[in-house]
Amino acid sequence: MIKDIRTFSDLLEICTNENKTICEVFELQEANFQEISVEQVRLRVKKALDAMKNAIEIGLTSKEKSISGQCGDDCVRLKERYSKKHAIFGECFEKITTYALATSEENLRMGKIVACPTAGSCGIVPSVIIGISEEYKFDENTQIDALITAGAVATIVSYKMSLAGAVGGCQAECGVASAMAAAAVTQMFGGSVKQILNAVALCLKNILGLTCDPVAGLVEIPCVKRNPFLAINSITAFEFAISDIESKIPTDEVVDAMAQIGELMSPTLKESSQAGLAKTKTAVEIDKKLKDKYKGKI
Ligand code: SF4
Repeated sequence: MIKDIRTFSDLLEICTNENKTICEVFELQEANFQEISVEQVRLRVKKALDAMKNAIEIGLTSKEKSISGQCGDDCVRLKERYSKKHAIFGECFEKITTYALATSEENLRMGKIVACPTAGSCGIVPSVIIGISEEYKFDENTQIDALITAGAVATIVSYKMSLAGAVGGCQAECGVASAMAAAAVTQMFGGSVKQILNAVALCLKNILGLTCDPVAGLVEIPCVKRNPFLAINSITAFEFAISDIESKIPTDEVVDAMAQIGELMSPTLKESSQAGLAKTKTAVEIDKKLKDKYKGKI
């Protein structure tokens, strides 16, 4: 029986000793924990992947605004612009940014999404796995492998810190999602375990301290647009890692630093909407308008 893997260094050791990928180790661990077969684990992951694709499909064409009326039509706007003029980074960039927006906007409409690791950060992993798979013709099995690898990253981080913005700031939500996506894409392009762990570390190092200061306490501003931005962050991490550029700080130590920063972060910047963007002049006006609009109704 595979032991419970709680650190990235343990993961590297097990993968090296057993000559397995992260995906192979984790699908087996999951099968053991849940007392089901590896095939059943992969079927569940496929179901999640299908739900992600469905959310993207709906989100790409919907202009329905959120209840607050603040967000919901940016994906269509971006898509329209790309239909007239391609993004300078090409069609893969277009897919990733629109798919991340599509999924995040579906979330704020209360549509069905897959929290990965949370609802607020739900657009990052799907946009990268699905966008890149379409562009580079990766098959479903490769996508499932990538999603399992992404899940392994979140699982190990979660042993050291909470993945909730209210506890660790947005570094724990969108930041971890970005690291999951970096691992997934590195896996898809055949990166080694070491390269995948470097992608995770490089990605996380560049989101440390990311605060959670949502306007009016809603998972809308800055959450929705943060998803495409941090999806692209994961691609930079992948490009570096696959080129054998290493993080000088090992992955576990980066996660320790993130956990420490989460603890040191002021509670006013951890989903309480008491500081940061949530207390800007415009945000306070939006908050007031919404409170007046829904007075006595909620
Ligand atoms: S800003 Fe806060 S609520 Fe929004 S996605 Fe980040 S952690 Fe979640």
